[in-house]
Amino acid sequence: MGLMTANEYKKSLQDGRIVYYEGEKVKDVTTHPALKVCVDTAAIDYEMPEMPEYRDLAVVTLPSGEPVSRYYYTPKNSEDLLKRHELMVVATRLGSGVIPFSHDIGADAMNAVNITANMMGNKDYVQRAENYRAMLQKHDYSVACAMSDVKGDRMARPSSPKQNHPDYYVHVVKKDDKGIVVRGAKAHITAAAYCNEILVVPCRAMTEEDADYAVAFSVPANTKGVVQICHPIAGHRSKLDFPVDLPVRHHTDSLIIFDDVFVPWERVFLCGEWKFALPLVYNFAYLHRHTAASYRIPSTEAMLGAAAAMAEYNGIKEVPHVREEITDLVIYINTLKSLARASCIDFVTHGGIPIPNPVLTNMAKYHFATNFHTCMKLVQDIAGGLLVTAPTYKDYENPEIGDYMKKYLGGKEGVTAEMRLRMLQLMRRMMTVENEVVAVHAEGSLQAQRMTIYYESIKEVQEYKKMVEYGAGISKQQPKI
Ligand SMILES: Cc1cc2nc3c(=O)[nH]c(=O)nc-3n(C[C@H](O)[C@H](O)[C@H](O)COP(=O)(O)OP(=O)(O)OC[C@H]3O[C@@H](n4cnc5c(N)ncnc54)[C@H](O)[C@@H]3O)c2cc1C
Repeated sequence: MGLMTANEYKKSLQDGRIVYYEGEKVKDVTTHPALKVCVDTAAIDYEMPEMPEYRDLAVVTLPSGEPVSRYYYTPKNSEDLLKRHELMVVATRLGSGVIPFSHDIGADAMNAVNITANMMGNKDYVQRAENYRAMLQKHDYSVACAMSDVKGDRMARPSSPKQNHPDYYVHVVKKDDKGIVVRGAKAHITAAAYCNEILVVPCRAMTEEDADYAVAFSVPANTKGVVQICHPIAGHRSKLDFPVDLPVRHHTDSLIIFDDVFVPWERVFLCGEWKFALPLVYNFAYLHRHTAASYRIPSTEAMLGAAAAMAEYNGIKEVPHVREEITDLVIYINTLKSLARASCIDFVTHGGIPIPNPVLTNMAKYHFATNFHTCMKLVQDIAGGLLVTAPTYKDYENPEIGDYMKKYLGGKEGVTAEMRLRMLQLMRRMMTVENEVVAVHAEGSLQAQRMTIYYESIKEVQEYKKMVEYGAGISKQQPKI
């Protein structure tokens, strides 16, 4: 089989999965008025191989001649990593700034599972990881990654008696010769409601006492005992908005409950090997933060484009402080792009699989996240207060008052009120609190990136220390240059 079409993907979701939205059980995620928007967004990944101009980017042909999604292909070199990076950027552009999310995060988790199995050297796990990859290549299933546990008391370990109950982290409650039974809940899991598979990995380092919590596995989304509760989305344009022909793109994230879920051994990738929870967490984070840095590029480009448009519309394009603000945005975006690309070129190999350079990747994600709010401030400064005070499309359409709006809300010569109001409407969709929180927390909190940068740089820092100790005459040993 190798590749699913968008229609086959949608059909595959009609599988009896248990999903709740706004307090009600969803009969069919593909026809539900809000979730349909998300399904259509995810389906872009399945449409790309059908578009001649994107097929080479989206598809890799295996030596067997079988075409498979590039996401499920094991990268061999920097060119493969750059192609995957480009695929995510292009897919996000097609999604008007929203990545489809049906393959990328699941592939990050699949690769992390594969790397960890290789590092462990456990033949069973290596075989299961490879079988899982082959299964995804064959069926082109969409995969969500469920890493973030609900956690309870953040300072208490998963198995600590200080936790109110033992189920704040997903853990094994039963084992037999057929498989394991797991219990717990994972939060914020993007696209899980409309993915075929849920790939579960731990979210932190584990100690020996936490061995039951050191568990990784995959289940089809319709497995008995898996219950998903989605958060609401703004999936439709308001009647108060100027109509736009392009579809609205959105995702929802699920709270996933694993209510004593049976998992057969062939789908278990970690079970009690607590020392390998951390390498799994880290390798997933390295890969996924690169995905994050990639899919953030189109949205930052849109911020700059909107700022440039409004500066022009309002006649302030050449004003010194506006030029400074545009320059800051250009630096912001190009630093992000350079770091994301450089991390592919300067890749490292973990468990036999090339991955984007972890320090550069975390710098890219951190740079994006920590400067995002400042960049929003720059865009807002250029846009002016009308960003929040503009009357609506309904007012504009009302013949009694529409002409006032046309006369008084125009910009510089040649710029109509409609142009300004449409651009401000687009900007309001970018300037949401949701986008601010996503920047800070999705793919790990800011501190998580700083910690990784610190620990991954320890060796490099020591080299510099040796260099200056030699330069200062403290050490006689000349470091390698
Ligand atoms: C839109 C969105 C989509 C997401 N998608 C996914 C997904 O698909 N899959 C997935 O697995 N996760 C996903 N996440 C989860 C994301 O990775 C987490 O939100 C992030 O790791 C922070 O965890 P938290 O939300 O539980 O916040 P917390 O962990 O509560 O963090 C809040 C603060 O507490 C600090 N903190 C927490 N624990 C400690 C500690 N032990 N010591 C010191 N400081 C601590 C943090 O550094 C941070 O400053 C998503 C999140 C968002 C917002």
